[in-house]
Amino acid sequence: MNRRLFLLATAIGFADPIGQALAQLDTSSPVSSGDPNFDAWAGSFFAKAVAAGWPTDLLRRELAGLTPDDRVVAADRKQPEFSRGVGAYLSSAASDEKAAAARAKLAQMQVWLSRIERDYGVPAEVLVAIWAVESAFGQVQGDYDAVRSLATLAADGRRREWAEGQLYAALRIISTGEAPRAKLRGSWAGAMGQTQFMPDTYLTTAVDIDGDGKRDIWASAPDALGSAANLLRKAGWKPGQGWAREVILPAGFDYSLAEGPRHPPAHWAGRGVRRADGYGWAAADAAVEVGLILPAGAAGPAFLVLPNHFVIRAYNNSTSYALAVGLLADKMKGGGRLVTPWPAEAPMSRADRIGAQNALNALGFPVGEADGVVGVQTRASLRAWQKARGLAADGYLTAELSRRLQQEAGLSAATTGN
Ligand code: CA
Repeated sequence: MNRRLFLLATAIGFADPIGQALAQLDTSSPVSSGDPNFDAWAGSFFAKAVAAGWPTDLLRRELAGLTPDDRVVAADRKQPEFSRGVGAYLSSAASDEKAAAARAKLAQMQVWLSRIERDYGVPAEVLVAIWAVESAFGQVQGDYDAVRSLATLAADGRRREWAEGQLYAALRIISTGEAPRAKLRGSWAGAMGQTQFMPDTYLTTAVDIDGDGKRDIWASAPDALGSAANLLRKAGWKPGQGWAREVILPAGFDYSLAEGPRHPPAHWAGRGVRRADGYGWAAADAAVEVGLILPAGAAGPAFLVLPNHFVIRAYNNSTSYALAVGLLADKMKGGGRLVTPWPAEAPMSRADRIGAQNALNALGFPVGEADGVVGVQTRASLRAWQKARGLAADGYLTAELSRRLQQEAGLSAATTGN
């Protein structure tokens, strides 16, 4: 526990020093769910928290009757059987209907948003787009008890240290009285309210915009939008700069430059990369280094992404997420129409992904453990293999490419779990 938490715990304890001292003597765990693993974790967490100076009455009250939530463990272990293509995701996440709803919300919140944009330097459209993607403007916040979810994840053990840290943060929110336990609800993993903030992000980053003295990311839209703005500002948002531009690549372009070093737009222009809308680069954007991404491979649209793209990823570290937010924000301003459409793609199964990884490993293009998650290493090795075979080296795995890889490696479909 850090010093501020300790002092806070001590201050609460002083309200009844003798009772507190007596309660400290009772080290029996307040949790008896009947699940041996959960109860063992809870007993040790309770003892640790008491030893660190947390008030036992608070711990007893919040942990009493706690049971593990099986839905949380199931969700944490689940890997999607089929992965949807990025185009299918973005066509829905940044649809015309969503953009129209977002424009209406922006108009409704205009007074607050103008103030937030002035104070934090983040465009209103970006904030409303995040609000749309995170919680459908506050309508879908999740109804899991954050304390129970985090206790379940801590007891399960895969992410124990992280979950315990978040649990302490949730207990601190309760102990300060800023929000009662009943309000700390959200996703299965503990992301809460209209901004889907984890408890520690709430403590460090949520702000009170409507001036009622509470940072209410659950019920106050101004607080939620301001808190999202504060998160992006702290992550390094560059006011006056864009986030991504669709570009057209010249014939014969070396696709392996995607996800590689960033350069100023002029450098890319020298390689024949031009903006899809035909405009030049604004001065603020021309001065920064931008990176090339091909979210759906060589067959789909290409983008040069600005530093603000990576700032959006401080919210959720995924290219698709940042594109959804950016494209929705663009559409709210009348843009966001792509010149190159998203390619139609068959969904890829987990067996396709693992089979491709096994094949790359067998062919001498190592990806590490074949875990079915196509990350940076898998894409880099796929690019190297594509380059070696004279294919467009876009590092983009499809079901068809997976079959070709497995055939070349002499792997039968049976070994991939098909
Ligand atoms: Ca407030």
